[in-house]
Amino acid sequence: MTEATDFQRAYDDLLGQGLALDLTRGKPAPEQLDLAEEMLSLPGAGDHLSAAGVDVRNYGGDQGLPELREIFAELLNVPVAQLLALDNSSLSLMHDVLVYSLLHGRNGAEPWAGRSVKFLCPVPGYDRHFALCESMGIEMVPVALGERGPDVEQIAALVAEDPSIVGIWTVPTYANPTGAVYDEETVRALVSMPTAAPDFTIMWDNAYALHHLTDEEPAPIDVHGLAAAAGNPDRVISFASTSKITFAGAGVAFLGGSVETIAWFRNYAGFRSIGPNKVNQLRHVRFFGDAEGVRAHMRRHREIIAPKFDLALRILQERLGDAEAVRWSHPAGGYFITLEVADGTATRVVQLAKEAGIALTPAGASHPYRNDPDDRVIRLAPTMPSLAQLEAAIEGVAICVRLAAAEVPSQA
Ligand code: PMP
Repeated sequence: MTEATDFQRAYDDLLGQGLALDLTRGKPAPEQLDLAEEMLSLPGAGDHLSAAGVDVRNYGGDQGLPELREIFAELLNVPVAQLLALDNSSLSLMHDVLVYSLLHGRNGAEPWAGRSVKFLCPVPGYDRHFALCESMGIEMVPVALGERGPDVEQIAALVAEDPSIVGIWTVPTYANPTGAVYDEETVRALVSMPTAAPDFTIMWDNAYALHHLTDEEPAPIDVHGLAAAAGNPDRVISFASTSKITFAGAGVAFLGGSVETIAWFRNYAGFRSIGPNKVNQLRHVRFFGDAEGVRAHMRRHREIIAPKFDLALRILQERLGDAEAVRWSHPAGGYFITLEVADGTATRVVQLAKEAGIALTPAGASHPYRNDPDDRVIRLAPTMPSLAQLEAAIEGVAICVRLAAAEVPSQA
């Protein structure tokens, strides 16, 4: 009997299980949301004044509550004067930064609209970053992402020559989806390299800065300080949120930048809104108390999700440890595992999994224009399912990986 027949039989058994499992998106599990359940009754009737005596029930306060900004300034390593606390979504803030840059130009530079502009996209990367660019007609140029950040030599060569390259996406801590953590050398290179575009912008999406999976909890790199020291204070705009700390979709998002960038953003944001949801911000202040409260809360998240990562990685090792050309990431934080399968088979793996009732993020999603030239990368999101569901799903994925590889005619 051939290997292919074995894998086909295992796959037929899988089909017979009638699974309905979902590993598509990095959502918190219900048990994680339960950790913040108390927030649903905060701040509570009668508790509506900020530390400075501001009534949070009314309009105003476009920078966000100072006491919440102080907590997250410490956690994100951004000076409080350079950090805004805003509404529920950091992705919306990224959207707004792009729109303001397109329409008005950054800090006095020429607007991006009406000419051909490009963003560099470290790959594999976050599909929603790429979707934002695509929706606004910003051309995307993939660059390679390693374990310690993107290839800075490749980037330096591109940005030095081409003034139409106006920005780069980054997820510097526990990158979505590879788990890469940028080291200081990479960050120094990014903030200091000469760029043909005077307004070259690093979109510093620190969505997972606090989402450690081990007891090593490195502080975020002082990216704004490094950029200022390199003479490029306006180059970096940073983003974060409590979406995967408190409630996804009902948290608080943060934007950091140079003093000038903050003024620029506030100016245009002031047309868009009369102020953020300060009731929600006060709720967060009451719930956490201080930065240590947030750190302690994140350790409780870790207790729930680290065993899921451990289980997924153990099954991958057991089932695919000897599979040719198959590799996966070993993240120390964040929400994802990147699985690399045999070249040319990722789409087939995702299709086989779908037919067996296991939903995976579409192959190619982690590349601009959904084009993974090697058809190799699959993103696994292990946080949402229960341990039992996750076990069934990863076992199933492993069978699909084997079968897809066995279907490809041998090169020999
Ligand atoms: N950035 C990254 C890298 C993410 O993975 C996510 C959530 N999946 C977001 C941003 C979205 O954040 P928010 O909920 O604050 O819009």
